[in-house]
Amino acid sequence: MIEIKNLHKQFGQTEVLKGIDLKIEEGNTVCIIGPSGSGKTTLLRCLNLLETPTKGTIKLGKFSLDFQDKKPVPKDKVIKFRQQTGMVFQSYNLFPHMTALENVMEGLVYVRKQDKEASRTKALQLLEKVGLSERANHYPSQLSGGQQQRVGIARAMAMEPEVLLFDEPTSALDPELVGEVLKVMKELAKEGMTMVVVTHEMNFAREAADKVVFIDKGVIVEEGTPQQIFEHTGHERTLQFLNKLC
Ligand code: ADP
Repeated sequence: MIEIKNLHKQFGQTEVLKGIDLKIEEGNTVCIIGPSGSGKTTLLRCLNLLETPTKGTIKLGKFSLDFQDKKPVPKDKVIKFRQQTGMVFQSYNLFPHMTALENVMEGLVYVRKQDKEASRTKALQLLEKVGLSERANHYPSQLSGGQQQRVGIARAMAMEPEVLLFDEPTSALDPELVGEVLKVMKELAKEGMTMVVVTHEMNFAREAADKVVFIDKGVIVEEGTPQQIFEHTGHERTLQFLNKLC
């Protein structure tokens, strides 16, 4: 479903991604792990063009973008490409002046131009799916961090993206709220949603990932099943990283 080839990203003189090659199969959950500053978030943001890669190609379903020429990507292409993805941010990024329901409906009504009643019905279904139907009319400030993040997931799903991208979705949460968000994500993984998750939650990666990708200093050091990475890695850098977490 997604094929990334020789992806580079430079900020000024600093090359943050140094030639990433990665394939993501439909229905798979791919967890991206690695030390802070290694380029994980940048890679994820390149996948929905919040960052424009300096070089390389990204194929997503029937869309393909080539960044070799360093020319800006035409805006309509960016929009079409981005609509294939749904992003869940570390800091939820909900509209504070809208209820949970309105946050989930927003994209359906104003981007997809769908009928308001149909959008409301769909948004309510999604809030139910993430266990929040009773909080539909609450504002973000009236919700816990875990609940806000679950609204964030429902909002991303409302647009029916081909792939959901998660940028450290639980790292802003108090520890006791992490589980409820991971539970929703595990359910989505089981249902066959394609997901790319930048995470520090190694237990989640162990349990839910089809593939774990270890990135360090802008390159993929190693990728494999959770078992290969967490139990049988032969790479010194992976071992060092995992040992530091224990
Ligand atoms: P990670 O997610 O692995 O912690 P990031 O992708 O956030 O790493 O960052 C990788 C490197 O790129 C860091 O050194 C960071 O400071 C740098 N970086 C990220 N975004 C920008 C930006 N917009 N401008 C300049 N440097 C950036």
